[in-house]
Amino acid sequence: MANNYDVLFIGSGPGGYVGAIRAAQLGLKVGVIERTHIGGICPNWGCIPAKALLRSAEIFHYIEHAKDYGLVAEKFGVDIAGVVKRSRGIAAQMSNGVGFLLKKNKVDVIWGQASLTAPGKVTVAPVAEPAPKGALTPGDYTAKNIVIATGARPRALPGIEPDKKLIWTYFEALAPASVPKSLLIMGSGAIGVEFATFYKTMGSDVTIVELLPQILPVEDAEIAGHARKRFEKQGIKILTGAKVSKVVKGADNVTATVETSDGKVQTLTADRLISAVGVVGNIENLGLEALGVKTDRGCVVVDGLCRTNVPGVWAIGDVAGPPMLAHKAEHEGVIAAEAIAGKHAHAMDKLMIPGCTYCMPQIASVGLTEAKAKEAGFELKVGRFPFIGNGKAVALGEPDGLVKTIFDAKTGRLLGAHLVGAEVTELIQGFVLAMNLETTEEELINAVFPHPTVSETMHESVLSAYGRAIHM
Ligand SMILES: Cc1cc2nc3c(=O)[nH]c(=O)nc-3n(C[C@H](O)[C@H](O)[C@H](O)COP(=O)(O)OP(=O)(O)OC[C@H]3O[C@@H](n4cnc5c(N)ncnc54)[C@H](O)[C@@H]3O)c2cc1C
Repeated sequence: MANNYDVLFIGSGPGGYVGAIRAAQLGLKVGVIERTHIGGICPNWGCIPAKALLRSAEIFHYIEHAKDYGLVAEKFGVDIAGVVKRSRGIAAQMSNGVGFLLKKNKVDVIWGQASLTAPGKVTVAPVAEPAPKGALTPGDYTAKNIVIATGARPRALPGIEPDKKLIWTYFEALAPASVPKSLLIMGSGAIGVEFATFYKTMGSDVTIVELLPQILPVEDAEIAGHARKRFEKQGIKILTGAKVSKVVKGADNVTATVETSDGKVQTLTADRLISAVGVVGNIENLGLEALGVKTDRGCVVVDGLCRTNVPGVWAIGDVAGPPMLAHKAEHEGVIAAEAIAGKHAHAMDKLMIPGCTYCMPQIASVGLTEAKAKEAGFELKVGRFPFIGNGKAVALGEPDGLVKTIFDAKTGRLLGAHLVGAEVTELIQGFVLAMNLETTEEELINAVFPHPTVSETMHESVLSAYGRAIHM
């Protein structure tokens, strides 16, 4: 029964490979089916290569500001081929690392395009992409449990479909042959603003067009407003409440018609357009309809333990719905593996999933925004602390940031935390732990924060919610 498994994961992204490793740790016979790249989008064409590009941009930014630090840097510039080469090298290293981990945990990798043919049956068809060493070949496989971990792909708007040349998705934007002189970015979610930061720092003239009234639409309005001011100060142009209604392609540029909510229409010409209007789940050609697996708005419907409506079929990660984040996919992989192994798995609480955006300044958040907390009927105590009051932030040359904390006035429960500023993506986990431990303001106030660290802004924000901030 070589082709028979306890569990087969379709897709080797953060959901699939983490779930597979956990299932193997629990003693199950596990296989992962992959058609393109081991590790999925995150290490190959997502989180990691994007952060590698942004690191080059950040270092360039600091060299540009060397004088502010009493340093002299006279001859420097951008070698975009070198920047991309570094990013692609890191992506390959991460993908190989995932391959190594799967092998170490005795997870079989099966190479090809998978579809469910009957309950417990998967057919794997050959693909053009060369198989990694040691991968099993296409054919028919069976498993007691099948986990759909097929991820997502860029959403395309009708009439503005990416063409890889003039209209890019994140794939082209992550590996440019040259830096476009001007760039239009459609969508101001995490992916859109991260590319805005990268390309602006690399020298492009960047314009963001966002349909909603606020950039970074899922973030707290005050934090998004703070970030917007910083972006505009850097020279990024931003149009909100604005829709790209038409794009005309030239020989080496695009002209977009942009309609704003006040009824005005303008045309903008740029060398390239990045379409960053979200992603859609890979639910097609998997045999889901025939099996009766429920889907909704491009995603598989699951419960808190990642079970679909069909026994033995599970779904995790991007394909199982928002938030479409790597750490959510990984966590769901573990939940599904433990539930399949008959362990007491804890259901996912989506409110506890942090979000991080690596633009300049960085954004990080967890829990309810102020607007959502009010909407939910809570009486609030809101704390705010600016980076300018923090010695370490000022010493770093990063005095522009804000930490906002939101408490239930009645119980002192921390409902949400929203940060903008340097390195806040490394700070947010403190608040995530606090929320998971059901901490109240009292414990946070009594905790000792090390000095000098930027983390002291977190403490001060909590103090501020209770009228006790010291350095403000
Ligand atoms: C530019 C960019 C930056 C990002 N930055 C961040 C970030 O900073 N933080 C964060 O948390 N998230 C980030 N993300 C999102 C993150 O990459 C995804 O949430 C994550 O990769 C989802 O993991 P997954 O396992 O659900 O799916 P994926 O990573 O998409 O993996 C799915 C895999 O399934 C394979 N597959 C699909 N269908 C089949 C089939 N039928 N047969 C066989 N194989 C199949 C695909 O080839 C793919 O390898 C970013 C995404 C992008 C594009």
